[in-house]
Amino acid sequence: MIELRDVVKRYGASTAIDGVSLVVGRGELAVLLGPSGCGKTTTLRAINRMIEIDAGEILVDGRPVSASPPDELRRHIGYAIQSVGLFPHMTVERNIATVPRLLGWERSLVEARVRELLQLVGLAPSYAAKRPGELSGGEAQRVGVARALAADPPVLLMDEPFGALDPINRENLQREFAQLHRRLGKTVLFVTHDVEEAVLLGDRIVLMCEGRVVQDGTPEELWRAPAAPFVKEFFGPEFGLHVLSRHRVTDLPLREAPDGRAPRIESGTTLRDALALMVTEGAECVAVIGDDGAVAGGLTIEDVVTGVRRTR
Ligand code: ADP
Ligand code: MG
Repeated sequence: MIELRDVVKRYGASTAIDGVSLVVGRGELAVLLGPSGCGKTTTLRAINRMIEIDAGEILVDGRPVSASPPDELRRHIGYAIQSVGLFPHMTVERNIATVPRLLGWERSLVEARVRELLQLVGLAPSYAAKRPGELSGGEAQRVGVARALAADPPVLLMDEPFGALDPINRENLQREFAQLHRRLGKTVLFVTHDVEEAVLLGDRIVLMCEGRVVQDGTPEELWRAPAAPFVKEFFGPEFGLHVLSRHRVTDLPLREAPDGRAPRIESGTTLRDALALMVTEGAECVAVIGDDGAVAGGLTIEDVVTGVRRTR
């Protein structure tokens, strides 16, 4: 668990973060979102003491971070950043193994862990021997994530880790990371300025502006009940569509099966894709196909629009 209480960081006369409080529960993926310069990186770096704060308190798993030497703290908190920061003269294997080696893991254990992590982030074992210069941006980013996970830290800090990627690689990594998170159950604080990324990944979104938290809640809560005009403004006109992407047709109660002419969709389809299909096909209603291959029921445009208002 990560907890910040009234954290303040000043640079000379300017205040980078001004009384930030937030909690990331165990196993939760919280997104710290906001425009450039609002204090996201400062907040993140205060947690692993890459910067020292001027006021307030930060606890990780119940312990004040001020009580641990920064080096030791960083060995137990994974950290991944946009620029990746791989050591260019070292192989991928050595890069991933940085923290396990610092922790004095046995060689065979380190090698097994590197193989396991490469597989986890979707890279072939042959990548272990490559150098960062031989990797594409997306591959380097995967290695960066593998390195952050290397010592199996319970807490992971990620600062715009997919920011430098082209849209396709970015979307792939986002989806894979969301799955990985569900599987590994780490406590993650993920920084981004990208609204779509935040809504896709976040169990919770902490929205910041000018060094302060404006609203903290599930994407659905921020969408349904924005705490300030800034919230709506920042998320933009597609906020509702992004929220639709978070839910699947089977999350809604289905109505009676429509007639045979209705377009069919799989039960795993997102509400956004279902809506897009209805609009494209000019269909009032779609038939949802269950896992057994039979029609499980129907869904209309109105069901989608009113249903998503009730999701949590
Ligand atoms: P974000 O990550 O949200 O883009 P940052 O946390 O990097 O924002 O920065 C927040 C504010 O603090 C900005 O106004 C930035 O200019 C300022 N700032 C960050 N680091 C320093 C520093 N080392 N010295 C002076 N000002 C800084
Ligand atoms: Mg930043």
